[in-house]
Amino acid sequence: MSTRPILIHPDPRLNTAADPVAEIGDEMQRLAEDMLETMYRAPGIGLAAPQIGILQRLIVLDCAKDEGSPPSPITMFNPQVVWQSDDLNIHEEGCLSIPETFAEVTRPAEVVVQWTDPSGDPKEDRFSGLWATCVQHEIDHLNGKLFIDYLKPLKRQLITRKMKKLKRERSRAAG
Ligand SMILES: [Zn+2]
Repeated sequence: MSTRPILIHPDPRLNTAADPVAEIGDEMQRLAEDMLETMYRAPGIGLAAPQIGILQRLIVLDCAKDEGSPPSPITMFNPQVVWQSDDLNIHEEGCLSIPETFAEVTRPAEVVVQWTDPSGDPKEDRFSGLWATCVQHEIDHLNGKLFIDYLKPLKRQLITRKMKKLKRERSRAAG
């Protein structure tokens, strides 16, 4: 396993809809393992393939955040929300592609998601709480959507400007 560099907003690949994964072979399984390692290392609770520049419908997540709780990674190929609650939930969200930035986003409190697991088996589960927020956030990435797209334009522009500055500073530090 190895970690992959995470793209920082703004980047056109983060605003592009990803393609369905046609076949889950060795290469896709390795990619999913790399994504989990990249997510844990960051550290984060979710990562979508477009965030490492791969425009395929693949996400990984692990929202088991309680101290001492065992890792609960979930790898989803071609995930789809098939039901969402009318009840809404407001959660402060962040994103590995928008570092050190948090904002409240309103989303359905519960969702049912269908996906294909790394063995190629179809799965379905119901998510609530932080898991519901996280899985919706990651599926948004597959549709080229970021959590800041839910914010008012002015706030979004401020964040984008901050990220451009961060990227300049990082590339200067690397050079
Ligand atoms: Zn994100």
